[in-house]
Amino acid sequence: MSPINLAIVGVGKIVRDQHLPSIAKNPDFNLIATASRNGTVDGVQSFTAIEEMLDAVPEIDAVSLCMPPQYRYDAAHKALSAGKHVFLEKPPGATLSEVADLEKLAASKGLSLFASWHSRYAAAVEAAKTFLASTTIESVHVVWKEDVRQWHPNQDWIWQAGGLGVFDPGINALSIVTHILPKAIFLTSATLEFPENRDAPIAADLHFKNADNVPARAEFDWRQTGKQSWDIFAETAAGQMVLAEGGSKLSVNGELTFSAPEEEYPSLYRRFAEIVKAGQSDVDLAPLRHVADAFMLGKRKFVEAFHD
Ligand code: NAP
Repeated sequence: MSPINLAIVGVGKIVRDQHLPSIAKNPDFNLIATASRNGTVDGVQSFTAIEEMLDAVPEIDAVSLCMPPQYRYDAAHKALSAGKHVFLEKPPGATLSEVADLEKLAASKGLSLFASWHSRYAAAVEAAKTFLASTTIESVHVVWKEDVRQWHPNQDWIWQAGGLGVFDPGINALSIVTHILPKAIFLTSATLEFPENRDAPIAADLHFKNADNVPARAEFDWRQTGKQSWDIFAETAAGQMVLAEGGSKLSVNGELTFSAPEEEYPSLYRRFAEIVKAGQSDVDLAPLRHVADAFMLGKRKFVEAFHD
């Protein structure tokens, strides 16, 4: 099969940090166009709007949509309607229903839709899944605490409705947890802290259980200065498992059992090529469903205003 002619929409931080280097290394893709109001990529023809790009470059086979989630559905609908396969950055949309609609549209046109979850491809995630399947889990505790000023400076969209606030990183933890736990969990209670001047939460404390009453807790906080935490702890019959540093290192009873170089975005593009070749879609909405549940069931606390 000849390489997939790819276009990127929404050229910003994650495109420059991860998509461009991963695409450049993958012979299955040829980046042939971009559409972004301001961003461009050297040596690639650029447009300011997706409609203009789709009209001007009919040889595009697939598009990666990397703008903030509130603006993803319209672009995805246009791309699928024009017969293109679609890669959705995480979170796949601003609502569950809009992503379900895209799934239907992709299926009706025989196109691939990929709701990507980059953290699921962190180095030690599969090893953690294998370990948890081999033992009995007693409890799970996720601690995902980072400094929003360091990681999301001046990103207004992230604080607006649909930008998800602290769930923007928190959903990465949920994408790992929903992948590695052998049984589904569901929310039982939650507290969300909203800065009084923002529409999205700065912190969240979520309590889940599964059908066997095994408890799981997730603490997300954007006010962490100093050491940053992206860790998942599980107490098990075989001892304590720690999946640390965003899923990249696995320890059991204090001993490092697995770590490997970071390959998240290269793995995402390998997976995208695989589903396009196989004529499949890959859309798992479990992480986004948990976030929606938190907004539905969570108590709201208003906390001091946040200024960048
Ligand atoms: P970003 O740089 O703030 O936004 C990406 C680009 O989207 C912007 O440069 C902008 O390009 C375009 N955009 C912004 N507002 C828009 C609007 N109202 N309508 C249409 N386009 C708009 O954000 P990012 O950090 O790359 O994140 C983008 C997505 O990737 C998010 O869903 C995020 O969760 C996900 N992601 C980010 C990271 C990370 O580390 N930053 C990691 C993994 C996943 P133009 O001005 O040129 O249109």
